Amino acid sequence: MSDTDTTTDAGGGLRTPIVAVLGHVDHGKTSLLDKVRGSAVTSGEAGAITQHIGATAVPLATISDIAGRLVDPDDFDLPGLLFIDTPGHHSFSTLRSRGGALADIAVLVVDVNDGFQPQTLEAIDILKRTQTPFIVAANKVDTTPGWNPQPDTPIQQSLEAQSDRAEQTLNEKLYEIIGELSDNDFSADMYWRVQNFRGNIGVVPVSAETGEGVPDLLAVLMGLSQRYMKEEMSIDTTGPGAGTVLEVKEERGFGTTLDVVLYDGSIRTDDTVVVGAKNDPIVTEVRALLQPQPLAEIRTEKRFEKVDEVSAAAGVKIAAPDLDDALAGAPVRVVRDRSEAEVIEEVREELAEIEVDTAENGVVVKADTLGSLEAIANALEEAEIPIVRAEVGDVAPRDIAVASTADETKHEVILAFNVDVLPDARREANDRNIRLFEDDVIYQLINEYEEFVEEMEREQQ
Ligand code: GDP
Repeated sequence: MSDTDTTTDAGGGLRTPIVAVLGHVDHGKTSLLDKVRGSAVTSGEAGAITQHIGATAVPLATISDIAGRLVDPDDFDLPGLLFIDTPGHHSFSTLRSRGGALADIAVLVVDVNDGFQPQTLEAIDILKRTQTPFIVAANKVDTTPGWNPQPDTPIQQSLEAQSDRAEQTLNEKLYEIIGELSDNDFSADMYWRVQNFRGNIGVVPVSAETGEGVPDLLAVLMGLSQRYMKEEMSIDTTGPGAGTVLEVKEERGFGTTLDVVLYDGSIRTDDTVVVGAKNDPIVTEVRALLQPQPLAEIRTEKRFEKVDEVSAAAGVKIAAPDLDDALAGAPVRVVRDRSEAEVIEEVREELAEIEVDTAENGVVVKADTLGSLEAIANALEEAEIPIVRAEVGDVAPRDIAVASTADETKHEVILAFNVDVLPDARREANDRNIRLFEDDVIYQLINEYEEFVEEMEREQQ
């Protein structure tokens, strides 16, 4: 079986697991992704990588080539790994699928010198909440004083080959990371001692600089997916496609297009698709499916290649009419084998699905994506500010109708994050003296509101 054919088998098949990279700023997320891609490109043999829209596919043959004896291709029937190209937890939480995270597995990057930092903890919270299995890449091991690089050597042996002092220094740092994980309720250990990766976190020492540990990281990701996630990877590759919008983008010659990660089924030119939007879902017909040209061609004008069909898991750009109001993070569904109305309903439900505890009285929150809505809702929850309604979309008159008081000031409040306020809604809000806070930075939006509350309280005293 060749590495690329598995996803196009008629009917049943296994899709490629989707991998996201998270971690604190400067801990090496981008460098690690670059190193994985770079190793794949230079791994001479079979498959190399295919560049998708927003993601990079590393086929099994290439992984086995990079990982050497750590990955025997005969032990696997998953097609490879699909890495989401944009690292960080903003993209991770925007990228949802059917209520969960779009990524099947995550790599949490921790700088061994710097240990756990605020964004490491934020990432762990998100991974816990979405129940995403993850492994830890303990990065920058090459910066250990006295480090003696051992390329092409499994990292466990490489550690043993260091001077006693270097090995000891690094081990101390690695055990600090393991300790931090256990403080956060995870049982964790060096990856070669972890027997069961479901529920236990494997720590892989790596260097995005020298590439040491990258083969081990790929081997652990492959093993984890093959052993524990095969059922989730089993899809009908010819069934109606389901995906998530990464980005809504103008593209010269194509108008507004969608960058989409397809995680189920297939999508074809001329398919009717339903796309989650600011207001009602969009129903439109696919004009063209676009994938990046091989690197050599990018210098020419034609950056994209038209394809007839794409099967999960893959990144693809969709060109179609009427996409202007589409939402990043929203679902995309192909209408095939069932009615358009049914699919529209499903998209609506999925957009409304975000879990927010609403109260009888509280602020109204409107936001541009599910991820940002969820982030604001969490921040408000922490500040103990009740929410009466939380939805994706522009501020509309029906939001004004439900606006109610959330605090002692008795003012009715609407928080609008990165969305428009429809003219009728603004007029009504003015007439009823409803406070409308608008911003495109989450903490600023909440600060403005809190400052307002404080000011009102002072005035009332
Ligand atoms: P990100 O913000 O998490 O994406 O971090 P970057 O990938 O941009 O890395 C931040 C800095 O750390 C850059 O200057 C990298 O060159 C450097 N860096 C990343 N990984 C390593 C590593 O393994 N070893 C060394 N020595 N430097 C690294």
